Amino acid sequence: MSDAHRVPFNALRPGEDREDIAAAIRRVVDSGWFVLGPEVEQFETEFARACGAAHAVGVGTGTDAITLVLRALDIGPGDEVITSPLSAAYSALAVMMAGARPVFADIDPARLTLDPAAVEAAITPRTRALLPVHLYGQAADMTPLLAMASRHGLALVEDAAQAHLATSQGRPVGTMGVAGTFSFYPTKNLGALGDGGAVVTSDAAVAARIRRLRNGGQTTRYHHEEAGANSRLDEMQAAILRARLPYLAGWTARRRAIAATYRAGIESAMVTLPPELDAGHVYHLFPVLSTDRPALQAHLSASGVETLIHYPVPIPRQPALAAARPRPCPVTDRICGQVLSLPLYPMLADADVRAIIAAVNALPPPRTAAPENP
Ligand SMILES: *Cc1c(COP(=O)(O)O)cnc(C)c1O
Repeated sequence: MSDAHRVPFNALRPGEDREDIAAAIRRVVDSGWFVLGPEVEQFETEFARACGAAHAVGVGTGTDAITLVLRALDIGPGDEVITSPLSAAYSALAVMMAGARPVFADIDPARLTLDPAAVEAAITPRTRALLPVHLYGQAADMTPLLAMASRHGLALVEDAAQAHLATSQGRPVGTMGVAGTFSFYPTKNLGALGDGGAVVTSDAAVAARIRRLRNGGQTTRYHHEEAGANSRLDEMQAAILRARLPYLAGWTARRRAIAATYRAGIESAMVTLPPELDAGHVYHLFPVLSTDRPALQAHLSASGVETLIHYPVPIPRQPALAAARPRPCPVTDRICGQVLSLPLYPMLADADVRAIIAAVNALPPPRTAAPENP
């Protein structure tokens, strides 16, 4: 790779969908209708169908989607929700926004999602729900988690913010528990040109309650039955998401193809690749593990490859979580010290993928200390 050519970590400027987005924006501008209208309704129908769910409800963000599901299930103060310590901190913050306490169970070191045995050990009489995260695009270990939820009478809510169109042993994410939550933050596999989120569920009562909660708790106009939130998907973002949804399957295939190329090409004693444990992985990110991450990141940066760390701080170690008195999660602590995300997005060129593989494979081994008594 020439010194002048840098591979950015992500590319968010619209590409092949550019004209569709422009047409969608013009349609909304011309309609004069901007919040909770026909575009949102159409998008909800189309997104529910894409997810294999009966209902989708558009909301303001992926964080709000989680909070509103918990509120719709009457989970709040005094209740505990078991979730993953390795995720965007918003998963746990959403639990706190509902008034409940996030409880962290450690992760499985291979799948990097909730370890079912650790979840079982974290259940208390106050536990009301499990909130697994389908991290980096790969589903959590759902079979034991679903069995545990049903055995203990707990709700299971799937944080699918990183896993649009992913499946778990063939079952679409978001449809296995009572509800699944999605984010359309611009970097996600399906991104808006701003914030957005959705809940999918096949429970009509949960969908109806979230529709009420997202709009101030109103039942009819100016009649507020409960203290809801103000978290609505707007018409502009809904129209943009409708324009992009038809491309999502192709973009997902491209993500999987790049990941397969990485897996076939990366052969360095200095990095380990987390295994693909489910063929339904949609590769929101491509993390690698290194025991000398600073050296790997510096070497890739010098080679023109931009990388990011997902995530540098375990959620239980965030100052914002101190009040939840989180227990330590040693596997997560170790992974947070080793994980590094390589660029992976649909518009990443094949030549860049090859150059990234070559750069990873060219990382020199660590200098060994000189023997003390030669
Ligand atoms: C992005 C993300 C969220 C939060 O979504 P927002 O739309 O940014 O609020 C929650 N959980 C996970 C796993 C995420 O990646």
